[in-house]
Amino acid sequence: MLDSLLIANRGEIACRVIRTARAMGIRTVAVYSDADAGAMHVAMADEAVHIGPSPAAESYLNIAAILTAAKRAGASAIHPGYGFLSENPLFAEACAEAGIIFVGPPASAMRAMGAKDAAKRLMEQANVPVVPGYHGDNQDTDFLAAQAEKIGFPVLIKAVAGGGGRGMRRVDNAGEFAAALASAMRESKAAFGDDKVLIERYMAKPRHIEIQVFADNHGNAVHLYERDCSIQRRHQKVIEEAPAPGMPRAMRDKMGAAAVQAAKAIGYRGAGTVEFIADASNGLREDSFYFIEMNTRLQVEHPVTEMITGQDLVEWQLRVAMGETLPLVQSKIPLDGHAFEVRLYAENPATGFLPSTGKLRHLRLPACENGVRIDTGVREGDEVSIFYDPMIAKLIVHGADRTQARKRLCAALEAVQIAGPAGNAGFLRAIAGHPAFADGDVDTGFIERHLALLVPATDSLVDDTVLSLVCLAVLASRAQAACRAAAGSDDPFSPWYRTDGWRANAVGRETLRFMSNGAHAAVMVEHAPGGTLLHLPGGEMQAKGVLADGQLTAELGGRKISAGVNVDGLRITVMRAGHAHVVDVHDPVHDAELDEGVGGDIIAPMPGKLISVHVKAGDKVGKGDPLAVLEAMKMENTLTAPADGTVAEVNYAAGDQVDEGAIVICFTRPE
Ligand code: ADP
Ligand code: ADP
Ligand code: MG
Repeated sequence: MLDSLLIANRGEIACRVIRTARAMGIRTVAVYSDADAGAMHVAMADEAVHIGPSPAAESYLNIAAILTAAKRAGASAIHPGYGFLSENPLFAEACAEAGIIFVGPPASAMRAMGAKDAAKRLMEQANVPVVPGYHGDNQDTDFLAAQAEKIGFPVLIKAVAGGGGRGMRRVDNAGEFAAALASAMRESKAAFGDDKVLIERYMAKPRHIEIQVFADNHGNAVHLYERDCSIQRRHQKVIEEAPAPGMPRAMRDKMGAAAVQAAKAIGYRGAGTVEFIADASNGLREDSFYFIEMNTRLQVEHPVTEMITGQDLVEWQLRVAMGETLPLVQSKIPLDGHAFEVRLYAENPATGFLPSTGKLRHLRLPACENGVRIDTGVREGDEVSIFYDPMIAKLIVHGADRTQARKRLCAALEAVQIAGPAGNAGFLRAIAGHPAFADGDVDTGFIERHLALLVPATDSLVDDTVLSLVCLAVLASRAQAACRAAAGSDDPFSPWYRTDGWRANAVGRETLRFMSNGAHAAVMVEHAPGGTLLHLPGGEMQAKGVLADGQLTAELGGRKISAGVNVDGLRITVMRAGHAHVVDVHDPVHDAELDEGVGGDIIAPMPGKLISVHVKAGDKVGKGDPLAVLEAMKMENTLTAPADGTVAEVNYAAGDQVDEGAIVICFTRPE
């Protein structure tokens, strides 16, 4: 009886499995590490059990802790998700010993496919075409170099225990071979505890095309067509789609049959993926695809298959685990339209794709309509931690054909708004919009070839439109702060709380200074009766806008524009078209306050003229309350209370000139 399921994973895949289990009436049990106590998968499950400290090795990879949790919660089955323990035969065996159903293939099938060399030998025996190369036991450097020569350069050295693109080196000529071999072996030893390698011919114009397979306990095995995962960076998937562009019907049938044969050869059960590399130098051809490896688990990119077949693969997994036969026979599996998946990562394309961590201060994903599906495991306010994979969400789109699906993908990516950690939505949008991608002209070298176009230059300041939005965000958030302050004051109509640059008998002007990507810009803001005029680097612009719920609705020179805005102190993030523009407002007062710590006296950070003084001796003020406004460097700077306290003395009046370092207000804090 499978009536209660523990999910030995976290993040989006844990949430995704919980959704299907719940729909099937199965009780769900989450597990979590210290870092995940408040995570989405914990909140979603019917029950959650703590399994250890944040590092995965002490929690999500701890077999004993997970089995204890399963027993405590009375779970009758365990779904491993992907990654972590999903391809660990010891875990599958430990589940069986504990009398718990492991939702996955038998340990023997995992072992058969666990090492790439053994898997290739097995596939050769089953008459599945494999990439030509050497996958024997001799690991002598000279011997391997001779094999490489025989195969013909370029070759690919691969760790037999490898995964996630690690332990892999492309070698273009004999002179580079020995060094590349040594480095592949070192990397593999460190990552997988094993330095054994194999050597393959490096395909010309390689396309990664994989087949989703499924088998049950009753001798049935089917495939659910292919996924093309050729858009890769460093041998890791970035965009996946189904069906493969330009895939001839006969080739699909042949690859599908080869994959089913591979599954049958190892007594497979449940969901698996047989990965092939195709040489696409003459287009996709029946005689030019080769087995590379099999992943004995549910794949990250399984949703694209769900979108074109209308099937729920997690439901299939659970049914097979319960001993049922496969829900559909081969001829009844639909193939409808086209689907893409992109992986939204907390990483920064501009810094060579360094992972980016921190709190997701603003997170808006496109609405799930018009073929859009979102699989995520985080919410706004959650932390992207250093402990786990920095994936924020998978965005999946379906369309009647590739063109429609791709247009929907572009639109969906433009709706992504992320502030806090850096994100790759803009990069993904650039790929999706590239003419070669639109033509389906994909191969694993695509990103590298077009990198300069796909990753925008970083040494320039944001454009005038973004600068205008930043100015409006500054003005709007300042207005909101003043409203909050006024709400607590005796006189909400006091002119001191006006934030439109109000000045008796004058048109208000101020200069806002910004820094972004190391470049500086200044915008003179003129508050005229008719609205706000911005003097931008590229010219003047009439601007107005409303900021509500993190969305700025602006009118710039008669053009209506909306954007996501996050204000975090002096850091403003404007999110538009999938890009997050981070701009720091330069505030000398703030800088001076930081220098002074939160001391009692309010000191002029630079020479200037006091525009207004809002307090008198004896006033009680709260932290952050505006005390006075100083005009300096063409900018209005509000001097605020560094803490709750009492004004002891005010040394200057509005209109006075003050010197740098002058004590404007003496301020006492309660003991
Ligand atoms: P797939 O082959 O399923 O597309 P990848 O090869 O892209 O997966 O990912 C490599 C591995 O990284 C996954 O099999 C998994 O081990 C790990 N991984 C990726 N994302 C996550 C995640 N969110 N949680 C846990 N592990 C992950
Ligand atoms: P991993 O276990 O790291 O996923 P794979 O064997 O699946 O290793 O290969 C990962 C990626 O490396 C493939 O998706 C493909 O882009 C590239 N690759 C693998 N084998 C070849 C090959 N023989 N020629 C060209 N590219 C290859
Ligand atoms: Mg692979």
